[in-house]
Amino acid sequence: MHTNPWLQAQSQMMKISSLLNIPKLLISRLTEPDRLISVSLPLQKDDGSVEILRGFRSQHNNILGPYKGGLRYHPSVSEDEVKALSLWMTMKCALINVPFGGGKGGITINPKSLSEKELERLTKLFTNRLSLVIGPRIDMPAPDVNTNSETMKWIVEEYSSIIGSITPAVVTGKPIESGGSLGRSEATGLGGAYALLEILREKGINPKKCTAAVQGFGNVGYHVAQFLHEEGVRIVAVSDSKEGIFVKEGLSPEITLNCKKEKGCLSECYCIESICNLTNGIKITNDELLELSVDILIPSALENVITSENAHKINAKIILEMANGPVTSDADVILQEKNVIIIPDILANSGGVFVSYLEWYQNIEIIRYTKDEVFDRLKKQMQQVVKEVITAKEENSITLRDASYVVAIKRIEKKWKENLNA
Ligand code: NAD
Repeated sequence: MHTNPWLQAQSQMMKISSLLNIPKLLISRLTEPDRLISVSLPLQKDDGSVEILRGFRSQHNNILGPYKGGLRYHPSVSEDEVKALSLWMTMKCALINVPFGGGKGGITINPKSLSEKELERLTKLFTNRLSLVIGPRIDMPAPDVNTNSETMKWIVEEYSSIIGSITPAVVTGKPIESGGSLGRSEATGLGGAYALLEILREKGINPKKCTAAVQGFGNVGYHVAQFLHEEGVRIVAVSDSKEGIFVKEGLSPEITLNCKKEKGCLSECYCIESICNLTNGIKITNDELLELSVDILIPSALENVITSENAHKINAKIILEMANGPVTSDADVILQEKNVIIIPDILANSGGVFVSYLEWYQNIEIIRYTKDEVFDRLKKQMQQVVKEVITAKEENSITLRDASYVVAIKRIEKKWKENLNA
């Protein structure tokens, strides 16, 4: 069984490449990152002590354009994890049709163990170490798990001071006042909601009759839950790294988030009707959330949460993979046998990188789109790409996951051939 995300990503690539008869030279380029950077980060702590941390950046492929992908701060960050995530970024950028390649990076650290000042010093040190290999036409990081717009602002500050020129386009996901795009923070969740609604429409399913459970109530999980709630989907459960809550009648993600901020934990948020307007709620574990009988299960936290161990216990009809790699390849096979429809990560969460592209473009062109313009472009792009994936699925009698890879790899192959002939 592959729970190593890199082996999983590679085997997915090999499977699709053989299906498509892709030239061996191109397969070799796609099954290894172009460049893998590993840096030592001696962090000076607030008390004067020094802790040596490790940071990585995997630049997987730039056939379609500069490397693009998030930075993650988490104890599980490893070489293999960033390599896998960077390969998925290459596929995602190709699928959503933006002129970017794939990259990913991170630092092996629990950021909650650091003060704000320590986090800033660490981010600036990491930027310093990467400064020769990132840039607006080379590689542009973005937020991922446990990093946010503030982290991106620190990167712009450090990078701009190194090169002597203010360069907001070196990252995306910045605060609006530092050159960020309106609508970027909502984009990944909203894009996932658009993809799901398009697939429900194609299958003749009314979203207002659907229930959903969301694992991971962070940036992505909150926004996908909120947009689906606004479309009439009943959100019956949400969870974070500590715990989950189940509310049969459905909960308001917005009220739940405000309550979580006020109370400090989710489990306080089903019982105080006057504040959170939730009734009949119970506290559940993350494992229980995954096994709920819902129409749509939305893993929005980390990879490998649905494995061969628990796949047979999944009761959802549709899985919307908002996290990267939440379903292992073994689990994928079991879920296919159970006829569960999986909307794969590279499609479901590609709205984030699409709006990152819009942010980058606005920085380069020194223009600004309104939030409505951003959402309108995002909706059209998601709907168009979902249609292409459905066509590839029907033409080849394959899953939505394989069809997404087919569309992505075909775009890369086309550009690769053009470059060879240039
Ligand atoms: P985040 O840090 O804002 O939120 C992560 C959430 O997951 C938090 O609520 C956290 O408590 C929860 N969590 C962590 N470990 C958990 C566990 N073991 N069980 C259950 N919940 C757990 O991160 P995010 O930006 O929302 O990213 C979530 C996922 O979406 C990641 O897989 C990320 O790679 C992917 N993604 C994010 C973006 C983006 O634009 N932010 C784009 C594409 C993909």
